[in-house]
Amino acid sequence: MSQRVNPELLTEIKKYGAADISACFNCGNCTAVCPMTKEDETFPRRIIRYAQVGLEDRLLSSKELWLCYNCGECSETCPRQAEPGAFMAAARRYAISKYDRSGVAKLLFTSPLWSLIFLVVLAGLIALFMLAQPNPPLPPSGPLKVFELVPVESIHYLGSAVMGIMGLIGLLGILDMMKRISKVDDKGKLLAGGKKTNWKEALWNALITESLLQKRFREDCETSEEGVEKPWYLKKWFLHASTMWGFLGLLAATMSDFFFYLIKYKVSGEPVTPAGNPAVLWYFVHVMATIAGFFLMYGTSVLLYKRWKPDSRTYSDSNQADWVLLWLLWLAGFSGLFLEVLMDLPQAPVWGYGVFIFHVAVSMEVSLLAPLLKFGHAFYRPVALFFHALKPLEE
Ligand code: SF4
Ligand code: SF4
Repeated sequence: MSQRVNPELLTEIKKYGAADISACFNCGNCTAVCPMTKEDETFPRRIIRYAQVGLEDRLLSSKELWLCYNCGECSETCPRQAEPGAFMAAARRYAISKYDRSGVAKLLFTSPLWSLIFLVVLAGLIALFMLAQPNPPLPPSGPLKVFELVPVESIHYLGSAVMGIMGLIGLLGILDMMKRISKVDDKGKLLAGGKKTNWKEALWNALITESLLQKRFREDCETSEEGVEKPWYLKKWFLHASTMWGFLGLLAATMSDFFFYLIKYKVSGEPVTPAGNPAVLWYFVHVMATIAGFFLMYGTSVLLYKRWKPDSRTYSDSNQADWVLLWLLWLAGFSGLFLEVLMDLPQAPVWGYGVFIFHVAVSMEVSLLAPLLKFGHAFYRPVALFFHALKPLEE
């Protein structure tokens, strides 16, 4: 099959943070030492080659791009200091921006000033939307009554719209990626061809074994950590998982809150309590959100520190969007936990309402932009892992 060549591909990927990968002379050391490379896999060398010769379609349809966990082992051994680990991370950013047709991901990855303006304006618009809701005058003192400032219905419907848009952006990106895989890869054609495959096993592997439980990351990537055994709570996989579990837990708590609200309030017409739900359900959601919030705070705090004072190559290669994602997640988690404390006070300060608006605006923003930041790998990696594990049953 003929391949379209993009002579600017390497130059383009460099804008996303790749070091000078043109120094690579294709020796293959990186592939030999990569703890994630198995059997016939040949990354990162093959992906580097695609970039060097301009095979953009090959690069964007490559499942191997997403098998790398950025341990940095390959960069340690590269005789040309071409930083193949950093290149793989930059190529993933490039792929995320190509799967996104809006151009927002590209802006967030490549333009510090415009992305800052964009983030401030977006958060401001979300805050304005909340403040524009019909609300009574605030009491001068007493406990915080945040759902009198902004009706709980407005928060729920805004949250639903944000989740819907996030899902749509993620789905469009995934469909684009699958289309590209199907064009160049026989495995991509397996499903469409109606052949019997191990798709259930491949799906379980992609979503549960690898994404939720981080099996390869935990077992293969950690063994190569500078030869020093770190406590489990400082291992890369746990910091990564803690952040992911925290984010997913908060997402689940928010969705449960809305779900219970719809059932109990909208369907039965029963009266509602603090967050719009019967007390027992409200406390269930409250506990789930608090636990998830602590996981999120722990993961993001340590990751921010490690990016500030890197102790391995995994953390020394930071794109602006990596910082943006971590800070947004940290701010959402911190303001949420702080708000919980304020809401328990019998006499809360009036600026507590500002904390509430800030928390909702940042949480909505990070959810909306999740597929367009580094968090995009949570959408694309499972797809790559699924196709990677997919095979015909008779094989
Ligand atoms: S990136 Fe470095 S180690 Fe890998 S093939 Fe190129 S020169 Fe060799
Ligand atoms: S960063 Fe680690 S997982 Fe990624 S290609 Fe290099 S050695 Fe392999």
